[in-house]
Amino acid sequence: MHDFYSDTQTRPTRAMRAAALDVPLGDERHDADPATLELCERVAEMLGMEAALFLPSGTMCNEIAIAVHTRPGDEVICTRESHIIFAESGGPAALSGVMMHPLDGERGMLTPGQVAAAIRPRSAHAPRSRLLVAEQTANLAGGAVWPQDQLNAVAQTAKEAGLATHLDGARILNAQVATGIPAAEYARGFDSAWIAFTKGLGCPVGAVLAGSRDFVAEAWLLKRRWGGAMRQTGVLTAMCLYALDHHVARLAEDHALAQSIAERLAQLPVIARLLPVETNIVIADLAEEAPTARDVARHLAERNVTATVVGQRRLRIVTHLDVGPADADALIAAIGDIG
Ligand SMILES: *Cc1c(COP(=O)(O)O)cnc(C)c1O
Repeated sequence: MHDFYSDTQTRPTRAMRAAALDVPLGDERHDADPATLELCERVAEMLGMEAALFLPSGTMCNEIAIAVHTRPGDEVICTRESHIIFAESGGPAALSGVMMHPLDGERGMLTPGQVAAAIRPRSAHAPRSRLLVAEQTANLAGGAVWPQDQLNAVAQTAKEAGLATHLDGARILNAQVATGIPAAEYARGFDSAWIAFTKGLGCPVGAVLAGSRDFVAEAWLLKRRWGGAMRQTGVLTAMCLYALDHHVARLAEDHALAQSIAERLAQLPVIARLLPVETNIVIADLAEEAPTARDVARHLAERNVTATVVGQRRLRIVTHLDVGPADADALIAAIGDIG
């Protein structure tokens, strides 16, 4: 299988699994699991926050953060193609009772002016603008990296108007590796932020949500209430610690592979257009005369290649730990032989 479906498709390596074998364990609910405590401390520091908590998924990070920052009836400002809108099963509405105020981003990014214009004046008629959510990198925009100034300025605009700010940092380490700018610099001005361990870092489970001590105390309450509190999480967090030590710098290899795939795709007549590739995601639009994205995906599947259909004529290809140059050759060959 040449699996470019997502960077979630990685399997833990032997060395990563070995890291979990001899780790001392305790109950995370009693702050007694050493690896989990160490992981939370390290991620809090990486994101420039006071504290952090370990959660089963990135979705739970986003949903808990939204719940902590808002009250029912409040409005959340974000881009239209945000993960919290398209891929969290209606969580913001179901769990927090909030309204979404989606804006059209430019490649998944907003400007301070756009945010300022979207914030409603306080009134008894309008919902209360309460939270800004941004994604670094912007997933559906093809792993686009917000420039640090723009991201910080958008957060500042929201803060000055009294809104809370949350950074969905599922792939923030891809941004850090692509630009050399530390994640904490991107997270500056945000009240909460998180990183995923199951994407480019290659772990089977886990995400860490960071914020102020008060924020994390509130988040722990919801973690327990919603059934996200676990026990001997060290078997998971030892693998996350291993990933922080061994799988961050290598994200550059994923970025280089994505770049080379994009360059080769650009030569193919069936590809009309590619979004700029900055990290590990390639988004390709098929030419008018080419088959639909669905048909192309089927054609690829027959050749043991997986890509994701993200629009009628749009495919997403994601590089990660478990694909290399030979898989890229298979992908290019399979797209190249479309009639
Ligand atoms: C994957 C992803 C999430 C959700 O993470 P899960 O661990 O799959 O729940 C949230 N936001 C973005 C941008 C993502 O790519």
